[in-house]
Amino acid sequence: MKIPFLDLKAVNAPYEKEINQAMKRVVDSGWYLKGQETEAFETEFSDYIGVKHTVGVASGLDALRIILKAHLEMGEMEEGDEVIVPAHTYIASILAITDNRLKPVLVEPDLNTYNIEPDLIEEKITDKTKAIMIVHLYGQNAYTEKIGELCRKYDLKLLEDAAQAHGAYYKNKRVGSLGDAAGFSFYPGKNLGAMGDAGAICTDSDELAQICRALGNYGSEKKYVNSYKGFNSRLDEIQAAILRVKLKGLDEDNQKRRVIADYYLKNITNTVITLPTLRNADSALNSMSHVWHLFVVRTENRADFMDYLEKEGIQSLIHYPIPPHHQKGYFEFHGLNFRVTEKIHAEVVSLPVSPVMIENEVDAVIDAVNSYRF
Ligand SMILES: *Cc1c(COP(=O)(O)O)cnc(C)c1O
Repeated sequence: MKIPFLDLKAVNAPYEKEINQAMKRVVDSGWYLKGQETEAFETEFSDYIGVKHTVGVASGLDALRIILKAHLEMGEMEEGDEVIVPAHTYIASILAITDNRLKPVLVEPDLNTYNIEPDLIEEKITDKTKAIMIVHLYGQNAYTEKIGELCRKYDLKLLEDAAQAHGAYYKNKRVGSLGDAAGFSFYPGKNLGAMGDAGAICTDSDELAQICRALGNYGSEKKYVNSYKGFNSRLDEIQAAILRVKLKGLDEDNQKRRVIADYYLKNITNTVITLPTLRNADSALNSMSHVWHLFVVRTENRADFMDYLEKEGIQSLIHYPIPPHHQKGYFEFHGLNFRVTEKIHAEVVSLPVSPVMIENEVDAVIDAVNSYRF
């Protein structure tokens, strides 16, 4: 048996007929940007997440960049101000900060949940700190009451990088509605994926939404009148039409991921493999706090384990092999040490999880992992 990490064609197959109809609708309309599909998707996504505004943009990275740029435009932040962000994240979270000439202040994650460690944040707060950007990594909510308290105590903005966690909950609220603004990515492999690049900003603030919308459209609110130095970052009609179709199946797709993850958690018993842990393990809604974008385990013998999986026909990947502070592009961080982040980057392996995996495949992964010996 060959088990691919993620078969995108199969993921999209159940939606294919409706997607083709939606794309034809756009082609036939003769209107390809800033039209009805984008507007309808924005309304539907706002209802889904539980926010007042969604602003469609060209990618997840742009969503985060634009949110921060809007704060500079509003005078809420200045160049050189600090944004707290997990040291263990996908590089885009940090790129959005440095692109705005703000300073990322990296904080170690919790080794078991992989999300930012709330108890290590306060010691990093200075006079220049303006925001905490939490990242709901691998699909799990990263927000805790402690983080909310710190934002209130120090008057900080709470920003969410929700690029991996469409549909996840904190208690009875969706991630993306927990702070001042959130960035989503609809990169094809995300839980809600387009067929190309796409992203969105979610916020309850009228002013922030309006500025973000202008920034993604050359800084213009009215054609040929430019209030800001913006750029071109828009969600197009084709992608919006596709996303409208797939949004309707998102909860069901996420639930399928949860069933698989739950099965892995209960049945993988090999002690050389460390399983991921849910945060807020005491909450009744706990299982809803994770949408399992990735199922990430740890082992000290990663290369050997991955070779073994490959021989068993199971494709696995590493998210991510090099921590941001060791990337060549971030030479300014090279002197920093983040022991937990480095350990995670050295040991993590992502096992296949997707809405289209069948029982046999899940069983085969479990059997292979349990039979592994170093
Ligand atoms: C995918 C991702 C992004 C960037 O999204 P793009 O649409 O690829 O620009 C940002 N943050 C995280 C955590 C991501 O996983």
